[in-house]
Amino acid sequence: MMQANPKKTYSGCTLCYHSCGIEVDVADGKVVNVQGQLSHPLNRGYLCPKGRATIEHIYHPSRLRHPLKKDGTGFKQISWDQALDEIAEKLSAIKAQYGPQALGFFCGSVGVENFEMVALTHRFRAAYGSPNYFSVESICYRMRIRCRQITFGKYPVEELNSRLYLLWGHNPNESDFPLRLAITKNLRRGAKIVVIDPKRIKLADKAEMYLKIRPGTDGALALAMMHVIINENLYDKAFIDRWTLGFDQLVPHVQPYTPEWAEKITWIPADDIRKLARLFATTKGAAIYQGTCTQDQQANGTQTNRAIAILQTIVGGINVPGGWVLSPRLALKNIFLSTQGGGQPLGTDKYPLFYELWGRTSPYGIVSMVPESIPDKLKGFFVLGGNPVVTMPDANAFKAAFKRLPLLVVYEQFMTDTTALADYILPATSHLEAGASPTTTMSATACPI
Ligand code: SF4
Repeated sequence: MMQANPKKTYSGCTLCYHSCGIEVDVADGKVVNVQGQLSHPLNRGYLCPKGRATIEHIYHPSRLRHPLKKDGTGFKQISWDQALDEIAEKLSAIKAQYGPQALGFFCGSVGVENFEMVALTHRFRAAYGSPNYFSVESICYRMRIRCRQITFGKYPVEELNSRLYLLWGHNPNESDFPLRLAITKNLRRGAKIVVIDPKRIKLADKAEMYLKIRPGTDGALALAMMHVIINENLYDKAFIDRWTLGFDQLVPHVQPYTPEWAEKITWIPADDIRKLARLFATTKGAAIYQGTCTQDQQANGTQTNRAIAILQTIVGGINVPGGWVLSPRLALKNIFLSTQGGGQPLGTDKYPLFYELWGRTSPYGIVSMVPESIPDKLKGFFVLGGNPVVTMPDANAFKAAFKRLPLLVVYEQFMTDTTALADYILPATSHLEAGASPTTTMSATACPI
């Protein structure tokens, strides 16, 4: 049979938060080709291996295609009507007996980065009346965003075309494809790299300096760099006078944090810290590119983030080419509903800062709360686009708790360790099957940044 001429559609890959531009050829209702969009400023026609495997992904034979219900012998295929009716009946029973706060929601990374999924989950949560929403965000890079907002009032991002890339616990060859493209291009134009990482990554071979930092000591390095920059008068005085507050307090604050002090903590020689601070302060268009390990996955991640934000600021590296820049965001309509009843979300007494700053409970909280709250406080749970039984700290606690849940519903594309524990599995659409606007985490959650 003759195949119709493919129709080209422009879309976005949302397999990670970058949202690279893609061109999708569709013939007879089937995707026949996916390629990077040449005119897209971020990926310029390229796709990472994950993006290139889109067709394999969406047509994979293991994709979940029907709702499944667990009975005594395993999962059985049921219709959407049956699944929705039965889940609705169980939700009504939980609400009638225990109140709306007995239901919890968890969005994984895919869920958080998908505008429609996270927005509609919040709408559903609020319509039901539950205050309990958890996500991967506080063990991903949410505190980086929050700390920059605390420091700048907005969330500046790296401009990508830097003259000096400080890759701080960040390995773009493996995990940040658009940055890898930008570095490759700009190295040819004379840009420089510094790698700060406990592990020697491949880009260290091309780096001006490679600093093998002791894990978890990034805040000490940032403070010592500020000590050098301030005491050697390498800071951008004009920028600081015009745009900042509190520099007079920062100067005495960093005095104890000498490179020698930091050497004992970071295991980086004091002379290297001085050399790095000088290089960073005297290169126009220098920017810090942080990895997740410098921020959310350390006990002192919040203060480290703040120190790094201030370090980028005192060299005048904000809103300049190659630095951190504030770019306008889409003004999306907020479709959330205000929660009626339900009370204070679980865990906010233990994790008030994250909740105050972001309005969500820390998933760290969920780890300790799950064994305590299920089944006494939480009777029903929805997991959307995530696999917490594998990805959360203390996965065993999650697993044990989910086994005790009276109702677990998982919305997923493939079977996972979490779906294995579900009472109902609802098959999820991929990014090419849903009518959502491709967007990123920041706009996805309609937060005013
Ligand atoms: S980096 Fe890869 S996975 Fe992420 S949006 Fe781009 S193509 Fe998709």
